[in-house]
Amino acid sequence: MASRSEELFAQARELIPGGVNSPVRACHNVHSTPAFIARGKGSHLFDVDGREYVDFVLSWGPMILGHAQEDVTRAVVDAAARGTSYGAPCEDEVTLARKVIEALPSVEMVRMVNSGTEATMSALRLARGYTGRSKLVKFVGCYHGHADPFLAAAGSGVATFSIPGTPGVPDVVVADTLLAPYNDLEAVRELFAREGENIAAVIVEPVAANMGLVPPVPGFLEGLREVTASCGALLIFDEVITGFRLSYAGAQGRYGITPDLTTFGKIIGGGLPVGAFGGRADIMRHIAPEGEVYQAGTLSGNPLAMAAGLATLKLLEVCDYDALEARTAAFAHELESVLREKGVPIQVHTIASMFTPYFSSKPITCFADVQGCDQALFETFYRQMREQGIYLAPSAFETGMVSFAHTDEDFARALEAAKKVVF
Ligand SMILES: *Cc1c(COP(=O)(O)O)cnc(C)c1O
Repeated sequence: MASRSEELFAQARELIPGGVNSPVRACHNVHSTPAFIARGKGSHLFDVDGREYVDFVLSWGPMILGHAQEDVTRAVVDAAARGTSYGAPCEDEVTLARKVIEALPSVEMVRMVNSGTEATMSALRLARGYTGRSKLVKFVGCYHGHADPFLAAAGSGVATFSIPGTPGVPDVVVADTLLAPYNDLEAVRELFAREGENIAAVIVEPVAANMGLVPPVPGFLEGLREVTASCGALLIFDEVITGFRLSYAGAQGRYGITPDLTTFGKIIGGGLPVGAFGGRADIMRHIAPEGEVYQAGTLSGNPLAMAAGLATLKLLEVCDYDALEARTAAFAHELESVLREKGVPIQVHTIASMFTPYFSSKPITCFADVQGCDQALFETFYRQMREQGIYLAPSAFETGMVSFAHTDEDFARALEAAKKVVF
């Protein structure tokens, strides 16, 4: 008999392309169907069939405090009672902007938008408007949302579905997107030697988290900072995942690098649709209405979304990131040894509250390495973990997420489940 999730998915496929509103959710490439979620609490999700899961997806990153965190919920409910949108400024926009600026020294001014995609596409427009140049350097396997110029060799769903670019993006739009392998500073230097005076910006995930989890090799981010500065190009850190996760000051706080512009999403909205971009004031002042680079949004700075983001950051400010990192690392290492005992090639990457099991024994520093991993082993692992109530991202190109709400018992349950996986 079909489960309620299967019934709903069958209906959804008649009404919504692929049955989902964002591709990876379809669980297509792991030959599964999605669980429809009824509710979440802390580190747990409950589906419409009454099954409970330990959630290591966390809405793909935002829910670092866990689901339905009480302070965040109260802030949203209180805000909703005062009206859900004004199309005029509200006080929380100022307060949240100040919080972001206080958290990250490189951010002197910030503009709120509604998603990570909007943040990166707006930051790119600003970089082009500010420099008067058109070219962009992006790294293969990095994902910066679904705006046209970034859909060349992207990670996340684009990688999951092996979409080389995508129909609908004219060649001319990606003609200005120059590609380099992640962690390959030499390749970037060569692009700058050839095209330097035309390059507006380099955009990078300072820790790549959309091709699984690939940290920067020592010197990579420093090198990007140096080469962009010396050629008059801007360095954009896409911290949509890493912002408020790698540390309260993001990846830039952790690695001590000062980008010109930074993009945010996910955590900054506490589970509501928020993105933001910010950086040097002299650059940000080029945004309309102060400057000439147009950018706008009917729901930008939405009072509910600002309230959720603000409540989230207030809590995160005093959270112990080091302790969460230590617990995540301990879990990741245990997971690695459990799987290694089964004789499969495995390495578990981990940093801060993120982890990715790669079914490969070769070192992984770029997207080509990630592609060498064994997809069939991943699928077996994913399906059997899910059957046992462990909710992982349904793709080998995504990153496992841990929240401050995860308990030792959650980790123990995941490890017990991993022990029972049969490859
Ligand atoms: C998720 C993500 C985006 C896109 O954000 P959306 O809110 O999904 O539009 C951009 N950049 C990175 C690094 C991301 O992980």
